[in-house]
Amino acid sequence: MADVVIVGTGHGGAQAAMALRQQGFAGSILMIGRDDQPPYERPPLSKEYLLGEKPFERMLIRPASFWGERQVELKLGINVSKIDPAAKELVVSGTETVPYGTLIWAAGGDARRLACPGAQLPGVHAIRDKADTDRICADLAGGARRAVVIGGGYIGLEAAAVLTKLGCEVVVVEMLDRVLARVAGEDLSRFYEAEHKAHGVAILLQAEVEAIEGEDRVTGVRLKSGETIECDLVVVGIGIVPSVGPLIAAGATGANGVDVDPLCRTSLPDIYAIGDCAAHANPYANGTVIRLESVQNANDMANTAAKAICGDPEPYDAVPWFWSNQYDLRLQTVGLSLGHDATVLRGDPAERSFSVVYLRGGQVIALDCVNRTRDYAQGRKLVEAKASIAPERLADAETPLKELL
Ligand SMILES: Cc1cc2nc3c(=O)[nH]c(=O)nc-3n(C[C@H](O)[C@H](O)[C@H](O)COP(=O)(O)OP(=O)(O)OC[C@H]3O[C@@H](n4cnc5c(N)ncnc54)[C@H](O)[C@@H]3O)c2cc1C
Repeated sequence: MADVVIVGTGHGGAQAAMALRQQGFAGSILMIGRDDQPPYERPPLSKEYLLGEKPFERMLIRPASFWGERQVELKLGINVSKIDPAAKELVVSGTETVPYGTLIWAAGGDARRLACPGAQLPGVHAIRDKADTDRICADLAGGARRAVVIGGGYIGLEAAAVLTKLGCEVVVVEMLDRVLARVAGEDLSRFYEAEHKAHGVAILLQAEVEAIEGEDRVTGVRLKSGETIECDLVVVGIGIVPSVGPLIAAGATGANGVDVDPLCRTSLPDIYAIGDCAAHANPYANGTVIRLESVQNANDMANTAAKAICGDPEPYDAVPWFWSNQYDLRLQTVGLSLGHDATVLRGDPAERSFSVVYLRGGQVIALDCVNRTRDYAQGRKLVEAKASIAPERLADAETPLKELL
């Protein structure tokens, strides 16, 4: 029995344990995770770790000894398959039961898999945890050089950039009519498409995968158009499926993820959910119920849940932010562009330093800043203030955004 059991040892789970201790929580804390590694950062998996520039030890959220020193018990390599909310018990590794006082569900999501023939062939990889990236690196070490990246979202594009840098021929296959369509406006999409092409990456838009070809391992990707792209490595970056099966089976409400209120409470008593798996009404999305997949959201929701558990409830109201590194481009985003009705370009994409400002009803709701950290830092204040600023003033790249508030 632990006073608080945390399921998931990723960003949200780790931060929840740390925040509980920071809040002065003196009860017992048990973290259970399927991964066999202590909590580590996921973003480098498609960036510096894939590139071989960051050793795994430097990705640990805290040194391995930290958890014991804070009286946080870690049970690694263990899957939680069932929750009994009436008995306040979890079933782990098939049969063992673990009672809890309060449960924090921080199980993130599983990489969405392709459903087509050949999807399971060796050489076809997702990037969700360390083992995935290690498998890609092993294929590269074994001589793989022709890669197809399926999915033109952030993870797919980051992987494409790294694989190119490592000397691979890369083709990105995207189902929609532009990359980053789910998360960014068209200006940004077109800019990144041009950048990748300039680095030798082929980008196929409105292209759908019919099958992965190969006998013992992947040899090609067949598209619905009939074209086959020969390759010896496939990276699939087509989103995640939130890991909420046991919660939903136990009766928690949810559809795309599990529903939580502003204190990160699920509909089940004494069960909180945080991070990628938590569907919430986000104040920066006009109250629309969404899931966010970012380190910011996982950490801030963890803080919200910890405060609520410690009797100091404070509704979740954190401004969303995110980053992505591709080649020498650092993209920083703040706010949510969801539902924007106008965009303003600040600076010149040709100079590889510019921002896209998103407006809804005249209010600044988000910024995507490429190699423009100052806009990102100052624009954040505009988003927080829900400032209404004339587009022509926002477009004047010479005037610092802080002067517009
Ligand atoms: C390759 C990659 C690059 C990324 N880059 C960025 C970036 O640049 N910037 C950014 O902000 N975000 C980035 N993200 C997203 C960010 O990492 C996630 O939003 C964040 O990790 C979410 O934290 P979480 O705690 O909700 O889930 P996770 O960190 O995914 O942790 C969930 C944990 O729960 C475990 N688990 C799941 N189900 C069970 C179960 N039934 N029993 C036991 N354990 C279970 C999983 O194994 C996992 O360890 C990236 C993600 C990936 C995969």
